[in-house]
Amino acid sequence: MKLILLGPPGAGKGTQAVRIEENYGCIQLSTGDMLRAAVAAGSEIGREAKEIMARGELVPDAVVVKIISDRIDEPDCSSGFILDGFPRNVTQAQALDDMLTDKNLKLDAVVEIAVDDGILISRIEKRALETQGGPRDDDNAESLKKRLSVYHEQTAPLIKYYKEKGVLRSVDGMADIDNVSKQIEEVLKQR
Ligand code: AMP
Repeated sequence: MKLILLGPPGAGKGTQAVRIEENYGCIQLSTGDMLRAAVAAGSEIGREAKEIMARGELVPDAVVVKIISDRIDEPDCSSGFILDGFPRNVTQAQALDDMLTDKNLKLDAVVEIAVDDGILISRIEKRALETQGGPRDDDNAESLKKRLSVYHEQTAPLIKYYKEKGVLRSVDGMADIDNVSKQIEEVLKQR
């Protein structure tokens, strides 16, 4: 199973990816997690990404495209993967299309987890309070506002992009976590 989870920050992509990972044996590939690990390790990519991430802006396309391409080549991705937080704009989506063609792979589905902005803000405030080891650098009011505007301007156009390709499936992300998981299961059964 190869799928994309699409949705705004705080939509529950990470939570649902972990559940899909357990049920289908495919690997969650979160560019946000990979970049945070690079920042923590102080690598060259991490040093480049740190401030950009803290501001809630997007890290350069070439950086994330390479991270994902290299990661998909790892043996543990052969049973499938869930892209969480990638692609984030049309340029990345086109790069992903080319990359998958080159690797002779095909997406099974793109699942949009739809949530209104008002709910996202309170969810992220809650996450900031609950995160062990303290909140993420970008879980504060200013970055959050930026991340939501980046989502609407750059990432939301992917809904149309994948709708036109006939692979988009949407679920109601405002339902509780178990219900969202059920909706995703239904969508994946139908594919
Ligand atoms: P996330 O954990 O998905 O909310 O991502 C946290 C931050 O990492 C984002 O606000 C961006 O700064 C950066 N990031 C994650 N994924 C991408 C991506 N695909 N393209 C560019 N920047 C990204």
